[in-house]
Amino acid sequence: MTEKQSLIMSHLSPKTTNPLQFAVMRSEQKFYELIESLPMVAVQGYNKKRQVIYWNEASRRLYGYTREEAQGKLLEDLIIPDFMRQDVIRAHFNWVDKGISIPAEEIELQHKDGHLVPVYSSHVMIKQESGDCEMFCIDISLQEQKKAREALRKMASFDDLTQLPNRRMMEAELASRLAECRRFKRELAVVFIDLDNFKLINDTLGHHFGDQLLKAVAEAMRAEIRDCDLLTRFGGDEFVLLLPEFDGVEGIHELLQRLINALEGGFELDGDCYQVTASFGVSLFPEDGTNVTELMGNADAAMYQAKEKGKNSVCFYTSDINDRLVAYQGITAMLRRAIANDQLHLHYQPQIDLMSGTMQSCEALLRCFNDQAEPVSPAVFIPVAEKSGLINRIGDWVLEAACKQLKAWQGTSLANTRVDINLSGRQLINPHLADHILKTLDDYDLKPNQLGLELTENEVIGGDEVQIGQLEKLKQSGVHISIDDFGTGYSSLVYLRRLPVCSLKIDRGFLHHAMENDGDMAIMQAMITVGHQLGLSVVVEGVETDEQHQLVKNLGCDLAQGFLYARPMPANKMPAYIQTHCTDS
Ligand code: C2E
Ligand code: MG
Ligand code: MG
Repeated sequence: MTEKQSLIMSHLSPKTTNPLQFAVMRSEQKFYELIESLPMVAVQGYNKKRQVIYWNEASRRLYGYTREEAQGKLLEDLIIPDFMRQDVIRAHFNWVDKGISIPAEEIELQHKDGHLVPVYSSHVMIKQESGDCEMFCIDISLQEQKKAREALRKMASFDDLTQLPNRRMMEAELASRLAECRRFKRELAVVFIDLDNFKLINDTLGHHFGDQLLKAVAEAMRAEIRDCDLLTRFGGDEFVLLLPEFDGVEGIHELLQRLINALEGGFELDGDCYQVTASFGVSLFPEDGTNVTELMGNADAAMYQAKEKGKNSVCFYTSDINDRLVAYQGITAMLRRAIANDQLHLHYQPQIDLMSGTMQSCEALLRCFNDQAEPVSPAVFIPVAEKSGLINRIGDWVLEAACKQLKAWQGTSLANTRVDINLSGRQLINPHLADHILKTLDDYDLKPNQLGLELTENEVIGGDEVQIGQLEKLKQSGVHISIDDFGTGYSSLVYLRRLPVCSLKIDRGFLHHAMENDGDMAIMQAMITVGHQLGLSVVVEGVETDEQHQLVKNLGCDLAQGFLYARPMPANKMPAYIQTHCTDS
């Protein structure tokens, strides 16, 4: 028997010469050898005074005390944290004295160096022949499980990139903070933060760069908030900030201004400095909502309002924002109904060749006839369709309807008329758009040069390489591509040179102002000259009077469109139009 084994045995059984007792002793010895050899099961034995009489190797590993250090020490002096001391003494006493056993449970006991060790602890009481009770504790470490659980909790509650709490945790936290606010009659502000033009950054500089920037933005904002505030990443480029304490609306403004300043301070990435702006929407508990859904929804609606106001705007929720939201939802519902009930129609507006006076092409403009007599303006419903995502279905419908019309005009006086449809930037995101357009043309047995596409300059400039590549493919195939509302966006001539476009459509605002303002006239002249030098044809929109017609002709525009020549009209009015208007005045 080794020294260690004899030490164990000396605690457990008196020495004997009786063969039966000896056999029992041998089996006990084997049992204790087994316990001793279990690496993960810490076993400790205590006498009735709770002094250590047995301490296996696994206990040393778990609690840090060697067998020698532990020997004879009191349980409560070794591994019981202070706050449990009295309870443990009482529980042991109750077991020894009254037979009330201590249930097995998950608890945290104290390591020699003071840290707490999570264990699953079960206990047995063994009555010795002498009548004394010895308690054996069998502790299994839960440290690995706890670490795994902690890692899982972190994964489920924190955002990997920014290390901020994620949306799930934010919602749980908001719910619990609201319960407190209700109890203590406190206020709370929810701030929805959305970075401006982040998609553009991601698309032009790449997702890796976007990620780096998001991380830097999160750190910069976190540095500005107070300990009691909670900054979370809601998703993408959206953050939500919970402010449990604030000094009125002014206090919130001050704090958000600090965030704006921090973002405007710029971020050094790859040797360059990038400034970021954001839009902030705020809702307050209790006036703007009493639960998570209401407060989040209203802060989000306020954020959209802030986006419309421009960069770095802060908007507090008001009921008229809600009215807009209701209107937005109403328009979305109307569009869905219109798609389902065949209430969408295309009207066509001629584009006149200023040299010959004949119609060269026409623009297809969407009309939505709901149950009211007057159609709803596309200027109203297109932005809603873009926000809601319905634009893709609507865009497909427009393409199909225009092709159907072109097919119907084949063999008539309108056979050589090109139809230009308007394309939303959201449609350009679809990587199969070019193929889809070319296939649809093919399905209707049309040539690509019978179709034109109009896109605003911001939509084209905001496009990434894939998107520009699609336009390139379409242009190569013969589809006519125009930049719509030119002059209202970036108007970057450098970009213009690189873009696959055929013509510019100068926004009608320029023409209106050019009549009264020499400066606008000069800009228009410059746009026409540049357009021509880049080999593009130039179209002017919004010609309403003879003077305007004369002016654009004198300025050298190629084509004109406007109420003077024709208002947008249903397809069935077009043959009559072309018969009566085919020569210049
Ligand atoms: P846009 O593409 O610039 O279309 C020209 C707009 O100017 C049309 O308004 C047209 O009716 C109007 N217009 C034409 N001549 C004159 C004029 O002499 N004076 C005045 N004051 N206005 C004139 P509409 O039809 O209300 O369309 C507004 C905008 O809605 C369009 O502007 C276009 O951006 C968008 N849109 C229309 N149809 C579609 C479509 O099928 N898809 C997409 N994505 N957008 C569309
Ligand atoms: Mg247009
Ligand atoms: Mg336009």
